[in-house]
Amino acid sequence: MFSPPFIGVVMVEPECDGTQLLKNALFAMDDARRAHLGCARMFEPERQLQADHRFHLENDMRAAFETDQFHVVYQPLMDLTSAGGLPLLGFEALLRWNHPHFGAVPPDQFIPVSEECGLIKGLGQYVLWTACRQQVDWAKATGRQVTMSVNLSPVQLMAAGIEEAIAEAIGETGIDPRYLKLEVTETALATEPALLVEKLKRLREIGVSVGVDDFGSGYSSLGQLDLFGLDFMKIDKSLIQRLGPCGRQTELVRLTIALARHLGMFVVAEGIEDREHLDTLTTLGVNVGQGYLFDRPQPPAQAIRWLLDEGWQAGD
Ligand code: C2E
Ligand code: CA
Ligand code: CA
Repeated sequence: MFSPPFIGVVMVEPECDGTQLLKNALFAMDDARRAHLGCARMFEPERQLQADHRFHLENDMRAAFETDQFHVVYQPLMDLTSAGGLPLLGFEALLRWNHPHFGAVPPDQFIPVSEECGLIKGLGQYVLWTACRQQVDWAKATGRQVTMSVNLSPVQLMAAGIEEAIAEAIGETGIDPRYLKLEVTETALATEPALLVEKLKRLREIGVSVGVDDFGSGYSSLGQLDLFGLDFMKIDKSLIQRLGPCGRQTELVRLTIALARHLGMFVVAEGIEDREHLDTLTTLGVNVGQGYLFDRPQPPAQAIRWLLDEGWQAGD
């Protein structure tokens, strides 16, 4: 198959030696490759700073495991179908890195680096086991079983043996698999449908549910979505946050919900920040809601209060 060329262009500066020049050209070429257009890209000096930062993150990530710099926080998911107050349904586990020099590094920054350098496998296992153990501990402490959603990056999902790793975490931690929800991004579904269909089938055989995350932010092939037999669809926060008086966005969300329903999925909306969004989504029949309106992701000691409370009431 024809593969388009990727061209990196760099201007020769007197202070730049040959090695640096070649490095900069490679940065520019890498940018061209990421643009997926088979095009040319000029070297941007900020690219060097980004590359240095990335280099530090990659190096430091290797040491961070041993020094407890990672931890998991939990954001509540509310049942929007209940009349009156909104009961807690479960939590999404989100990874945090407290870097000794840079402070809190956003997962949007370090997850892609971990995927590129092969550390995502270890990080993913850490989150999975921590979240499963946490769910079991909370059930023992409060008598309440709630769902636990864990993100699976595309690299993790496609790695050989992921099904066995998940089954092992379930067996060893004792979590009831019906409460474990795996969120895979829309982009992960854009690859190798036959392999993915097989993987998702095996995951469902283990008893966990699997859903598409960030729906509406990427490029899913709608025709393929039907193949995967997914359990839920999480509508991306960018769609939710554009909900407003203009009817077009509401219509778009309404159609997205209709699509999910048609494919037999239940619907989760993330990024709910205000009461108007919540009211619109409830009217549209969204099943589950998540967002700063209810709570930000919290460490376990704070998150547990959701298990001890009645749920969310307007005015909380
Ligand atoms: P995501 O899976 O879509 O997670 C939801 C993100 O939206 C979280 O950001 C959460 O803090 C944020 N969020 C929740 N409610 C609101 C809201 O009302 N408004 C706004 N503006 N944001 C809200 P966070 O924790 O920074 O994570 C960012 C992304 O990093 C995640 O997006 C996920 O793709 C990735 N990530 C985080 N933890 C993990 C992990 O353990 N494994 C993998 N593979 N990816 C992870
Ligand atoms: Ca997610
Ligand atoms: Ca999301």
